[in-house]
Amino acid sequence: MSVGRRAFLQFVGGAVGGTLLSPLPWKLADDSAIWSQNWSWRPSPERGEFTEKPSVCQLCPSACGILVRLVNGKQAVRIRGNSNHPFSKGGICPLGASGLQFVYAPYRIREPLKQTGTRGDPNGFKPISWDEALKEMGTRLAALRQENKAPSVAVITGQSRGSMSDLWRQFMTAYGSPNLFTMPDESDSQRLAARLAFGTAAPFTFAFERADYVLSFGLNLLDGWGPFVRMQNVFSNWRTESAGAVQTELVQIEGRASVTASKANQWVAVNPGTEALFALGLAYVLIESNLYDAGFMSDQVFGFDNWTDAAGNSHEGFKQFVLKHYSPDQVSKETGATAEEIIAIGRKFGAQKSALAVWGQGRGTHASNLYHDLAFMALNLLKGNLKNNGLVSLETPPPFAPLPEAAAVSSTAEGLAGTRLDLASSAKPPLPGNALHSFCDALGGSPAYPLELLLVHEANPAYTMAEPSLFRKAAAKTRMVVSFASTMDETAAMADLILPNHSPLERLDDIIGLPAMPCAFYAIAAPVLAPQL
Ligand code: SF4
Repeated sequence: MSVGRRAFLQFVGGAVGGTLLSPLPWKLADDSAIWSQNWSWRPSPERGEFTEKPSVCQLCPSACGILVRLVNGKQAVRIRGNSNHPFSKGGICPLGASGLQFVYAPYRIREPLKQTGTRGDPNGFKPISWDEALKEMGTRLAALRQENKAPSVAVITGQSRGSMSDLWRQFMTAYGSPNLFTMPDESDSQRLAARLAFGTAAPFTFAFERADYVLSFGLNLLDGWGPFVRMQNVFSNWRTESAGAVQTELVQIEGRASVTASKANQWVAVNPGTEALFALGLAYVLIESNLYDAGFMSDQVFGFDNWTDAAGNSHEGFKQFVLKHYSPDQVSKETGATAEEIIAIGRKFGAQKSALAVWGQGRGTHASNLYHDLAFMALNLLKGNLKNNGLVSLETPPPFAPLPEAAAVSSTAEGLAGTRLDLASSAKPPLPGNALHSFCDALGGSPAYPLELLLVHEANPAYTMAEPSLFRKAAAKTRMVVSFASTMDETAAMADLILPNHSPLERLDDIIGLPAMPCAFYAIAAPVLAPQL
């Protein structure tokens, strides 16, 4: 019997249709789900009493309130948002909801690992005991200090908003090394800008909730920037259509088609890196159209108009400088935006009662350009946004007394008085803030003195720095690298010794301040689980 193509297709179609219409596949799927529940190798929580413990998520700087569900008080099975938290109000993101992976993942590092092969070979690590690991660290630290080489020890920490960074500072003070760095973020350049403009080195905060018109210069408000859950809440309020709700307009000025750009009311795709130029074009429109806060500028701001110093030298004011160099036509040529767009946005920004300019690069995990920060700040100054109770302010620390200072041991004084490695070999910058890139750059080139020991805590600079190759070169020139990572990330893979830290759910920690939050914030992240190391 021959079977033609048509008959074959009819047979296959009939067989598939018949099988789907019969109860067989659904019964098999149901049965296999029941059978697989009892497979011994399938992880499942033990039976017992459920309780919930509150804590704070530490997987990003948003510090959302969480409730961790435990079985018999010792096995965590679920993380959900805590609706009593004043800012996250019950919201968490997918990363926070899957935070148990950091505790139970099979790839978690649970014991110290020592590189016994070539540095960088992930298969060269061998487990050693905590006693051996701590002895090796202690011996190395003691030997370096005895040899008066304390400054050749450096620390990079990813925790900048908590007492842990203060403890690192105290440890380095007592040990005698000036080489302590935190991972870069947007607050680095903002601190410098605020110090230049106001004499106080603090990052800016923004009252998004009270704004009716928001100009975002490259800040990815909806792509995971800083206070992620707060921004989701703010944005959903901006889009609420209930009676009386303020319909805040969002204008995204950015060269990239980000999620924020796609959800904004208006997206101005300027040439990359020209956002600050665009801001000065808007400043021109505000000044020229008299749409700025003249009272605030004359009473509270120095240098807006031309001025003469005590020696009789005249200086150009900001107003004259902007009117000379940043007309919409001039700005249009560089930014790619049309002069009409610049004028229309400038007029709207000037006319709105609560218009706010915010800025940053992407998710805020890199320092910005100091001059760009000053340009965006100037736009807010023109609107009077830095008045008391304005839309922009400087971050306020919680009103706590500082931790007692660690006393420098007398033999460490010489090391502390030494110059930080990034400032020792080249012309010193006028504002030497947190400068991890310069440190790695100096170390990878011809450092003034060699680095013997680099400790990397809660950070993965070999992956997350803007230029990871700088860190890789620096690490290659360091005698010994120690990582405190709990998973084999890019930096841990380059280490000689890995001392795994407790997961955030297993340790006592605190969070001081939230990014861009216009009020003081302090939270204690209580441990909810015994260490599972
Ligand atoms: S936004 Fe950040 S703090 Fe909040 S749940 Fe997600 S990872 Fe955790």
